[in-house]
Formats: sequence, C-alpha cells, structure tokens
Amino acid sequence: MSKPPLMRIPYTGPLPPPLIIPSAASTLNGAATAIAEFLTARQSQKGGDVNTKDKTVLLTGAGISVASGLADYRGKNGTYTRNKTYRPIYFHEFVASHEARKRYWARSFLGWTSLHKSRPNPAHYAVRDLAKHGVLTSVITQNVDSFHNRAHPGLPVVELHGFLRSLVCLSCRRLMPRDEFQSWLSKLNPEWDQFLQELLKSGALDTEDPEERRKKGYRTNPDGDADVPGAPYYTFRYPACPECLRRAPILKDGSKGRVEVDADGAWSEKSDSGILKPNVIMFGESIPVEVKQQAEAALDEAGRILVIGSSLATYSAWRIVKKAFDQGMPIGILNMGGVRKEAGFFPDRDRFEDGTDAVRASLAAEQVLPQVVKLIS
Ligand SMILES: [Zn+2]
Repeated sequence: MSKPPLMRIPYTGPLPPPLIIPSAASTLNGAATAIAEFLTARQSQKGGDVNTKDKTVLLTGAGISVASGLADYRGKNGTYTRNKTYRPIYFHEFVASHEARKRYWARSFLGWTSLHKSRPNPAHYAVRDLAKHGVLTSVITQNVDSFHNRAHPGLPVVELHGFLRSLVCLSCRRLMPRDEFQSWLSKLNPEWDQFLQELLKSGALDTEDPEERRKKGYRTNPDGDADVPGAPYYTFRYPACPECLRRAPILKDGSKGRVEVDADGAWSEKSDSGILKPNVIMFGESIPVEVKQQAEAALDEAGRILVIGSSLATYSAWRIVKKAFDQGMPIGILNMGGVRKEAGFFPDRDRFEDGTDAVRASLAAEQVLPQVVKLIS
C-alpha cells in the first residue's frame, strides 16, 4: 500500500501547555545547558571518532524567524496575529481562479519589500556556529524565508515547504527570481507601485500593528485587502511565464497550451497555461516526493532531532518527529508554547535529570541558542 501524499493543511486545534524537560530547563541558563548536553551527549561519551549518528538534525519553523521581524503564523493564542481577516490561499484556488491570483499577487506585491529587507537573526547565526562545532548534520525547515541558507550556506537545508525567493511556472516548472518578478509587477501596476512607494516612505510597512499601519496610510477593506486609491485589487495585473509565452508549453494531456498576454505583457484570461506561482507549498498542496525523500534522508543520517520554533501544527512536520520517535531517536523541542501531541514524544519524562536523552523548553530561540553556542565552545 502506498502512503498518502503529504498535504499541507493548516491546523486550528488547541495545543497542550508546554512540557519542561528536565525541570532545570525552565530558565534561560537551564534550557541552554540542557540543549548543550543534548547536542554533545554522544560525542562526549565516545570522545574522538564522531560519526553522523552522533549528531543532530534540526527541524525549524516560524518561531525561529520571529526575531527577524516576520509575524509568527500562529501567535500565542493560536490565531493569525498579522491580520484577523487573513486567510491563507489554498492551492486549488490559486490554480483555478484568476481573481484569487490577482488578490494574492496584490498582497504579495505590498508585502515583498518587508520580507526582502528582513535578515536572519541571532538564532540562525547560532545554528551556523553549532554546525562549526560539528554537532549538526543538517536543517529541515518549514520556513520559506531562506534565512537558513543565508546564515549558514555550508550546512545543508531541506526546505520542506519550498521558498519565496523564486516563482515556479505551473506549466513548464521553470523557476524565476522573485525580485525580477517584483519589478514586473511594478511596471504592470503603476498605481499600486505609487501606493507602495508612499507606504514605504511613511513607514507603514515597518510595523505589524494594524492600528499603526492605518495611521500611516495603510487602509484595508473588510476583507483585509489594501485600499489603493483608484485601484481595487481586481485591477491588479501579473505577468505570464516568459518561457511559455515564447514557446507554447505541452500540457499534461499532450496538447499545446495557449498563453496570451495584453499589450503590456500581463497574463490574459484567454490563456490556459503559463501561470507563475510562488515556489512554496501552499495549503492544500502536496509536498513533492523528492523533497519528502530529502527530509527522510536528513532524518536517517542523524542520530537525534531538535525541533526549534515549531508547534508541529503542520502534519508534514509532526510526522517527521513521529518517525524519529518510532526509530528511538532522542527528541528535543525548543518552542514557545505548546506542541501538537507533545506528551507522546516524552512518555517517561520524569526520569530525565539532564538534557542528555531529551529536552523540552518553552523559550525564545534567539535567546537560548547563542547561549548554547557559548557553552559548547
Ligand atoms: Zn512556463
């Protein structure tokens, strides 16, 4: 029997209160000490002769990027903190609906500058330093912000949910840089571009607080979309895949695709292909088999797993930790707040007196991880 595909779906159920293991991990120093013990346990037992089974694979989520100024997906109460009316787009909507894509790209156009300006934070650089000390094999991340790749290009990263730095064509699967696409969007949507420039000047995009934003000129309609004077989102235009425009793509049924654009090069509804999508796994979309295999290989290479900044709300991430657990791998979790079904990962949690075989702390990664680096150095 083949396994079902790993589909990305948002989890909205309640999370349990966080466990603390060992009990000393309730403080910053205690947590850092326990994580240092966790990462070096096998190496100090054996001395010399370290192989990858003595090392740890990291699984990271939105919590590791919060200090970079990106809104945490869930927030403390499990709701979307950025915007109460925000609802993520589903893959099938993006593929099927020109209207849904206009709306997606209009939001993305305004949001890109903030993401583009944000940088890896001390937690990402601590990962780099831990790798230098030889305690890590690789990183599996749910994040699409590319911060891991930028902070530590030498340590392998499996991007479970893809990455925003590129677009992918749904017909020919070619990638295109998001930066280049942004300048196309500016040209195709001059009113929006002017609005964006004004928002950037006013500082309205430097804050996540909706009230502050409103004061600085960022008004939204009841659906949470930006109110651009004279240019509602349904006027937003986006380009077609340049490759498919040049040469019609061959569709799945073997027929030739049709890609048409308006006078300025914007994708036209007369087309049936050549649609560019952010190269991320949207909700309702399945993780490609090769990415799933890379994640499994990363898990198999290591001897233990440490989760950082993820509540494992996404099934694909939870399943990786479950697999590690089933294989008898020691599990560590550093995440602010509860983690989906976490008690199951620490069945006899009272027996752990230090971090050697298990660790669970509920503190900010950017505070704990640099401390861990100091302890290991
Ligand atoms: Zn294409």
